[in-house]
Amino acid sequence: MRLSRYFLPVLKENPADAQIVSHRYMLRAGMIKQQAAGIYSWLPLGFRVLRRIEEIVHQEQVRAGHIPLLMPTLQPADLWRESGRYDDYGEEMLRIKDRHGRDMLYGPTNEEMITDIFRSHVGSYKDLPLTLYHIQWKFRDEVRPRFGVMRGREFLMKDGYNFDVDKESALHAYNRHMVSYLRTYERMGLTAIPMRAASGPIGGDNTHEFLVLAQTGESEVFYDDRVTTLKLGARDIDYDDRDQVAKVCEEFTTLYARTDETHDEAVFTQVPEDHRKVGRGIEVGQIFYFGTKYSEPMGAVVVNDKGERVPVHMGSHGIGVSRLLGAIIEASHDDKGIIWPEGVTPFPVGIVNLKQGDAAADAACEGLYLALKSKGLEALYDDRDERAGAKFATMDLIGLPWRITVGPRGLANGVVELTSRRTGESEEMSPEAAVARVA
Ligand code: ATP
Ligand code: MG
Ligand code: MG
Ligand code: MG
Repeated sequence: MRLSRYFLPVLKENPADAQIVSHRYMLRAGMIKQQAAGIYSWLPLGFRVLRRIEEIVHQEQVRAGHIPLLMPTLQPADLWRESGRYDDYGEEMLRIKDRHGRDMLYGPTNEEMITDIFRSHVGSYKDLPLTLYHIQWKFRDEVRPRFGVMRGREFLMKDGYNFDVDKESALHAYNRHMVSYLRTYERMGLTAIPMRAASGPIGGDNTHEFLVLAQTGESEVFYDDRVTTLKLGARDIDYDDRDQVAKVCEEFTTLYARTDETHDEAVFTQVPEDHRKVGRGIEVGQIFYFGTKYSEPMGAVVVNDKGERVPVHMGSHGIGVSRLLGAIIEASHDDKGIIWPEGVTPFPVGIVNLKQGDAAADAACEGLYLALKSKGLEALYDDRDERAGAKFATMDLIGLPWRITVGPRGLANGVVELTSRRTGESEEMSPEAAVARVA
């Protein structure tokens, strides 16, 4: 992408209303534009990151054996009357009437609708286990939308729902989600700690929230700091192997890690003092097992292997896809701007031409651009007629992992400069070597 032809409306000034760093940088880097309280347009740069995050979420869900579909954003109120949640959900639900006076709502979550889909088509235990998920916009009329995409009113969520014949199988689905989420967050360069949580309006006993530690997080968290060093890494997981998956969950949930809602001071004091930490975290996901809470009232039953009709055991599992952009920036930035982890960066590398219009510099940049492209890497090439300082400031702000700087002086010696955004270290090398290093 050539910057002269792109749409990157960078702001020079710090937006006054943005209180936290991720919100500030997303506005300044031209990633989002607010359209109403808690409602945003995703400008091209923000949209690229959103798509990458979505893609990682999809890949890890499919790897775990879960099946994507797509449900609508608008739902009929009647489904929610069946579960009893139409009245219970309260002010967070955006209620709409269509032209015929029918009650509709903009979905804040999809337990009712997925249960309706299930009961319409599945009747036998032989069709189980089944986990369906989608990535779709949600609306919650939050009292205090704030911090940009962190607490929006319209936000993108991955929500998945498992259907199992008994509790044991449903708990395996729960564990599968936990492991697939750990892998998802790790691929985004995040440490998200599963913490025992309270269940809230979705209901159920077994639930964990995934929290990214950050000063600006809205949840108070209590943990043994050794949990922050646990890594899933590249280990092979057989998602059908119940014991293996359960062992991984045990590994990640044995050390003390709880939110304020489930915090137990007596248990916490047993953690060695030098490992006992209190901090704040951003909730980037949550998993629930809630048994037959929806299947019973909504009649989602299957015939089991003994010929009996039993309500299915369910759980629901969510990832805050749009909130993740904010969480990643909170976890990875400096005073110049964002530092994207490789896994989610909007472009893998930027090219800065120090002297646009200089024949040698222009040709070298074009050559680099094409060489990167042939390796499947789309560079963001700053080909504008701008001062070097302004170009560097933009690149630092938007936070691409690598920058290749090209100027007449270096080219006279056959070199360009490769700079790592994370370490700030620069090295001179031939253009070919720079391409090889980035690829
Ligand atoms: P919170 O405690 O932050 O209000 P929640 O517990 O109400 O979130 P869930 O119902 O668990 O949210 O939804 C799954 C995920 O969706 C959350 O873990 C979070 O990452 C994301 N999410 C929830 N509400 C919002 C919001 N208003 N804006 C952006 N993301 C959100
Ligand atoms: Mg909420
Ligand atoms: Mg919550
Ligand atoms: Mg939650």
